[in-house]
Amino acid sequence: MRLGIFGGTFDPIHIGHLVVAQVAMEEAGLDRVVFVPAGVNPLKVGRQITEGHHRLQMVKLAIADNPKFAVSSWELDRSGPSFTVDLMSHIRAQHPNDELFLIIGADNLRLLPKWKSVEGILEQATILALNRPGEDLKSSCQMVLALYPHINECVRIVDMPGLDISSTWLRDRLCKNLSVKHLLPAEVIRYSEENKLYDYSVGQ
Ligand code: ATP
Ligand code: MG
Repeated sequence: MRLGIFGGTFDPIHIGHLVVAQVAMEEAGLDRVVFVPAGVNPLKVGRQITEGHHRLQMVKLAIADNPKFAVSSWELDRSGPSFTVDLMSHIRAQHPNDELFLIIGADNLRLLPKWKSVEGILEQATILALNRPGEDLKSSCQMVLALYPHINECVRIVDMPGLDISSTWLRDRLCKNLSVKHLLPAEVIRYSEENKLYDYSVGQ
């Protein structure tokens, strides 16, 4: 099996994420894409991230109609910060005969050298990198290939039309009571409203 792994905060999951996963799956001939919501790093300062079980539920709702998409709560079930290299080792142990692909957007590819044990990741999976507006995907790709020349074809560019959508922008719209219709699956909008996830007026 050719298995794609797509990590993210997914706070909330949006159509940009879904298009990335679908295009990567088609272009790289993947059999399945597993979405992995990230655990909350207790050391991280700044904005409070929505509780993991809510982010997990929103991913479940968003992918429910796609039989080739799955979700894993592995990072959420662990305490403390989680690292992609550990996730890859876990998946590799579970799927010893599968070919692994790590799906990431261009902003994450640019930051890859800062990640823990990049070589450990690249030895276990091929990176599928997708365009994101405002990012120079080609030069980030060249940078990674130059840093790790001994690991053959560790990064592959997957073309997609730039979708200038982010969870940050969506949270901002929700906060201002602007519509997010068509930008998130309808079920995700309903869930976030029912649970008042992005209702910043509460308690102020
Ligand atoms: P935030 O604004 O909170 O950082 P985000 O929209 O960047 O949210 P993440 O959960 O941080 O979403 O991203 C998960 C993965 O999806 C990352 O690899 C990111 O690069 C990628 N990604 C998210 N949105 C897009 C997009 N519109 N186009 C391409 N890649 C994207
Ligand atoms: Mg992001």
